[in-house]
Amino acid sequence: MEMNLMRDADLENRSVLLRVDFNVPINGGKISDDTRIRAAIPTINYILERNARLIIISHLGRPTSEREAEFSLKIVAEYLNDLIENKVLFAADTVDEEAKSLVEGLGNGEVLVLENVRYNQEEKANDEEFANKLASFGSVYINDAFGVSHRAHASVVALPKLMEGKAYAGMLLEKELVYANKILANPARPFTAIIGGSKVSDKIGVIKSLLSVVDNLIIGGGMANTFLLAKGYEIGKSLHEAEKLDLAGELIKLAKDKGVNLYLPYDVVTAKEFSANSEPHYFELAEIPDDEMILDIGPKTCEEFADVLNNSRLIVWNGPVGVFEMEAFSVGTRTIAAYLAASNAEVVIGGGDSAAAITQFGYADDMDHISTGGGAFLELMEGKTLPGVAVLHKGEN
Ligand code: AMP
Repeated sequence: MEMNLMRDADLENRSVLLRVDFNVPINGGKISDDTRIRAAIPTINYILERNARLIIISHLGRPTSEREAEFSLKIVAEYLNDLIENKVLFAADTVDEEAKSLVEGLGNGEVLVLENVRYNQEEKANDEEFANKLASFGSVYINDAFGVSHRAHASVVALPKLMEGKAYAGMLLEKELVYANKILANPARPFTAIIGGSKVSDKIGVIKSLLSVVDNLIIGGGMANTFLLAKGYEIGKSLHEAEKLDLAGELIKLAKDKGVNLYLPYDVVTAKEFSANSEPHYFELAEIPDDEMILDIGPKTCEEFADVLNNSRLIVWNGPVGVFEMEAFSVGTRTIAAYLAASNAEVVIGGGDSAAAITQFGYADDMDHISTGGGAFLELMEGKTLPGVAVLHKGEN
C-alpha cells in the first residue's frame, strides 16, 4: 500500500508535529550517546527549511505516573538547541496551558520540544482525548520514530488518525521501510541472516519468516545452544530453553525443507561461571564438560561464518553471537562485526544489541544501514505491518 511521505507534504508556514525517538541514554546527567538525536536532524532541518514551526514529541525511558525527573526531555531540548542553528524552546509539560501558549507563540523556523510524552499515562493507552490535545498543536504530523512504530500509543497511532490525511512518514522511517522491503521482497543473493542473542523464544517469528527468504541462516549466541541440544550435543551448563527443544528441531527441519543452509557453532569458548572475570576455555562441540557454559563462538566457527559472509551479497544481522559485553567473550561478535565492516555485501544491522556492538567496536560508519529500532525491526522482518506505519498509508487517516 502506498505511504504518505514527508517529501510530498506541503509544510510551508505550517505548524508541524514531529514524533521522534529521542530515547537517548543519560548517564550522570549527560547524554552518553546522541545517535538518535543526530539521526533525526535531516528531517528536522528539512522541516525548518520550509519555514515551518516545529513541535517535537518524544518519549524518554519508562517513567511511572510519578514523572521522575531523570526522564525529562529538558536536557535533550538543550542539546538540540546547541546542535542546530534554529532556536529550540522547551515546554515543561506535554499538553498543558503553558505548552499551548508556547505553541501559539512559536515563530516560523522555531522549535518547541514537548516534555516526555510518557509522563502522561494516556500515551500508552492510545488515548484519543490526549491525542486530540496534541493534534490541536499542529496541522501536519510526521512520524520519524521507527523505534516505537510497533506500539499502538497515542502519539504514534491515535494522533495521526486525527490529522485528516495530513500524516506522513519522515525520512528516517522511510529509510527503515525501504530496507525492510529490500530484505523481504527483493533481496540480493546470496542472502545471509545472522541471528544471535540470548533466547530462541524471542526470535521464533523472525527465524520462521527469514527461512522463507534467505539462502543462509547463521545462528549464534545463547540461542544457538537450544539448537545444539536439539541436534544431540551435550552443552554442559549453557543457557538453553528446554521447552523450546522441539521447536528448534522443527526449525532445523524447516530450513532443510526450504533448502536454506543452516550454520551453527562447532567450536566454542566457555567458562565455569557467567562472569567477566571467568577464565575463557576452548572446546570443540563434542568435548564440552558438564561444568562449563558456552559464552562465545570459537575461532573455527568464526572462519566458517566468515566464508559464508564473504560469499553473500546481502547480510542481515540481529543479536550478538556471544556475551560481547564481557571482554573475554566478545571476540566472536567483534570478529563478525569486522567481517561485516570489510564486506562488499549490503549489510543491514537489525537494531538493539547488534547495533550497540557495531557502535562499540567502531564500525558504525561501515554499515549500509543500522536500524534504529530493535523490536520494530524484528516485527517488520516477521512480515507484520506496524500500527504506526499502517496509519500513514494513503487513505488511512
Ligand atoms: P538479545 O537481547 O536476545 O538480542 O540478547 C542479547 C544478549 O545475549 C547479550 O546481552 C549477550 O550477552 C547475550 N548472549 C549472547 N550469547 C550468549 C551466551 N552464549 N550465553 C548467554 N548469553 C548470551
